[in-house]
Amino acid sequence: MKKKVKALVLLSGGLDSILAVKLLSEQGIEVEAINFRTNFCGPSKARPAAKMLGVPMREVNIREDFLAVLKKPKYGYGAGLNPCIDCHALMLKKAGEIMWEEGYSFVATGEVLGERPMSQHKKALKIVEKEAGLEGYLLRPLSAKLLESTVPEKEGLVDREKLLAISGRNRQPQMELAARYGIKNYPTPAGGCALTQAGFTKRLKELAKHKPDFDVDDVDLVGLGRHFWLASPNPPAGGEGGVNGVQIILGRNKEENEILKSARKSQDVFIIPLNFLGPEALIKSAKISNNSIAKAKELIVRFSPKAKGRKTEELNFEVFD
Ligand code: SF4
Repeated sequence: MKKKVKALVLLSGGLDSILAVKLLSEQGIEVEAINFRTNFCGPSKARPAAKMLGVPMREVNIREDFLAVLKKPKYGYGAGLNPCIDCHALMLKKAGEIMWEEGYSFVATGEVLGERPMSQHKKALKIVEKEAGLEGYLLRPLSAKLLESTVPEKEGLVDREKLLAISGRNRQPQMELAARYGIKNYPTPAGGCALTQAGFTKRLKELAKHKPDFDVDDVDLVGLGRHFWLASPNPPAGGEGGVNGVQIILGRNKEENEILKSARKSQDVFIIPLNFLGPEALIKSAKISNNSIAKAKELIVRFSPKAKGRKTEELNFEVFD
């Protein structure tokens, strides 16, 4: 009896990974999709894609592992703080572990040779494969004919002739293939994750400077509200500020106020304006002084159009400490 071929395919929900699933399914290969959640990417696009493709998908949380990579990437950052090579290697390593444990024949991705200059040139693809412990077992169906044959191709589990030789940034071949498969609804190529965006990376660098041991919950708040850093209550000798300063985050609307409130941890302070409309404030630090609370109240007043020109002492606040 012919051996059942099972592939684990990384599915982001973008067109390339959708096509990778299609190309393999078309060969009669049983595909399971896998999607990884970090602070910067998750399953929101992959879920509808898996549904449309009719394949099961598992979701794996790698936020903690990803944070370690983000703080110290072996292969460095792209134009922003995006450690793309390390990020791919981490996801593929996790996929590889599942592949070996659960008896999948290989792992596949929608990567296209040369599509992303930093992380998808030949050398980078090779590095990622090696770092992930997947040498010979990582198939890129869209560019396979331009790459070395993999073990499943050599063993005849995958028909190399039916794989493709797409390369470069021109997406016309993928769009034509999508039309051939009748795939109409797919997301436009993303402008990269938040780690490639200047405003976000500036805030993230600020967080890393003031709090080098930042965690995944801190990162969740980076894109939210207005951020202010006060000098550390215990600044290092000879310098102002230093690490472990006090962070004040103001919500810019009702939704952000709610998120900040629910993000409050036991040592944090939360401040709500009582007799006027204004932003709510979350204060984060290992040690929060009355001075920091006063500063947060001043910021609330400064960013409240309704309290313009009024003194903090004339206004009421509720302080949850
Ligand atoms: S753009 Fe972001 S999510 Fe994508 S590979 Fe790079 S670091 Fe990872």
